[in-house]
Amino acid sequence: MPKEYPAIPGETCGCARKESAAAQRSRDMTLSAPVGRFAPSPSGFLHLGNLLASLLAWLDCRSLGGEMVFRLEDLDPARSGKDFAAAMVDDLRWLGLDWDRGWPEDPSYAQSERTAIYEEAFQTLHALDLVYPCWCSRSQRLAAASAPHPGEQESDLGCRCTRMSMAEREEMFRSGRNPAWKLRSPDCCITVDDGHYGVLVQNPAREVGDCIVRRSDGVFAYQLAVSVDDMLMGITRVVRGRDLLASSPRQKWLIETLGGTAPNYCHCPLLTGDKGKLSKRLGSLNTQAMRKEKKPEELVGMLAFLSGLIDRQEPVSARELIRDFSWTKIRKDDIPV
Ligand SMILES: [Zn+2]
Repeated sequence: MPKEYPAIPGETCGCARKESAAAQRSRDMTLSAPVGRFAPSPSGFLHLGNLLASLLAWLDCRSLGGEMVFRLEDLDPARSGKDFAAAMVDDLRWLGLDWDRGWPEDPSYAQSERTAIYEEAFQTLHALDLVYPCWCSRSQRLAAASAPHPGEQESDLGCRCTRMSMAEREEMFRSGRNPAWKLRSPDCCITVDDGHYGVLVQNPAREVGDCIVRRSDGVFAYQLAVSVDDMLMGITRVVRGRDLLASSPRQKWLIETLGGTAPNYCHCPLLTGDKGKLSKRLGSLNTQAMRKEKKPEELVGMLAFLSGLIDRQEPVSARELIRDFSWTKIRKDDIPV
């Protein structure tokens, strides 16, 4: 199927723009070994669902002979804890997962250290007229819909800011209230061929709306940071929970608009509890608590069995699972625990 790109008034499609040096580097790296990533956000202890996604990301990458990266997604200073970040590193290593570059050895792999990089990408989008200021309050945005990825994907239903006249905008800027900045979602069909769930065709403008790329307090938001980082870190394999599947067309489009090559996306089923998807707030299923009761091989065996990788629940090391790893064995439906 041919790629379709957004028709931006007065612009040619994203792929025709000249590649930046960074994007060229990312493309060159794409030609070598696959590069996967862990990208946890230190807003709590890792839970069982985070461990499953981490295990599958690692197996996917290692089974292809790829390189693994650890990126700390600590964009939001109010929701990020250094203790949680250290515990995540410790938990993944305890589980038998490793990585070749990234945090904590290299602090530049923490998103909190990468503001200047996001600023540059933001200015590029600004120059392309792909971002606009939004003065809606957080409560207005939250009232329109609940956020699928907390704090990041608020609905823009009801926001009229995109249609403000220049005079109205100037008036708002003069009032001194800082706006958030939103990305204009492309009004065209973007196709993502997910490695587990198959082809997804989405019109982001009509199906998900515009998203915030910079908050009114200046903090860059998830969609921008994750796309820029995947591009510049040379990530070619993104494995993560199915709740982020709907974000992948927009991220692919954003990366290509910035001149990079989008990674292959492979989403995995979610583990669900009584109240739906597991969250970091559920204490009993956090890794620190489970480590008191189980050996790493027992936990890996449990995750491998729950996801469909092995037929019987028995202790196994992560490394032993590499040889026979295949996405065809992994369940597609969500997994109750
Ligand atoms: Zn608005």
